[in-house]
Amino acid sequence: MPHQTRRIGERLHCYIWQGRGNNCNTYLFAHVLRGDRPHIIVDPGSVVNELREDCYGSLVAAMRADGIEAGDIGLVINTHTHPDHCHATEKIVEAGTREPAGKAATRQPLTALSRQEYDYFKSVGEKMFGMFGMPAPQLEPFIYLTEGDLVLGKAGDSAEGGDGRIELQVILTPGHSPGSISLYWPEQRALITGDAVFFGSIGRTDFPGGSISTLKQSIDKLADLDVEYLLPGHSTEYGSIIASKDTVRRNFSAIRRMV
Ligand SMILES: [Zn+2]
Repeated sequence: MPHQTRRIGERLHCYIWQGRGNNCNTYLFAHVLRGDRPHIIVDPGSVVNELREDCYGSLVAAMRADGIEAGDIGLVINTHTHPDHCHATEKIVEAGTREPAGKAATRQPLTALSRQEYDYFKSVGEKMFGMFGMPAPQLEPFIYLTEGDLVLGKAGDSAEGGDGRIELQVILTPGHSPGSISLYWPEQRALITGDAVFFGSIGRTDFPGGSISTLKQSIDKLADLDVEYLLPGHSTEYGSIIASKDTVRRNFSAIRRMV
């Protein structure tokens, strides 16, 4: 299976892409939200990639092995709107859509991204899907993420009886795209960076809307955080998840010398 799985603490599931073609890593916070769709997914990735690998099918299988059904995801957070990160958002929304019997209203999983990224998607980003030969997904954000605290779930809400609530911090980290975000989870000192920072590398800035000087400022912001696990949007030839405070620190030093 092209996704390798790893868990940080009880609730943060990491699905690290190991296929031959391009796709992003996906992260999932399990059992957070109230109701019948308690899970939160970050960057569900491609549906099918340029080598015709079934990225979404692999993700679904990997999640299922962890007891997570795609239909039980209530919130999709997109770090940015490049096809290899957000194309499967539509699939998750489809999987989790419930049509209550006898009612006109349809309940569906919610999507979240920054306002800057949505504006970019509507003006430029949608066209990028065409460049990759695929139709742009319907991305209708319910929540615009702004920089600062993002508290999800409520204390004691977890279906498993634990504390369902997680307190994340949204950090605007533009540069790879104009509205890219990173997510920091102080409880586990875990940082999801999208395509801002990888192991030994950074995200490309030569796509429309990219800017190396802006990315440099974003990286400076991230480097100040107390991070034990750096969870990048892609693996590189050097590795994938960056674990241990020391390795994270060394990675930031190496990258700051590059940019
Ligand atoms: Zn990207």
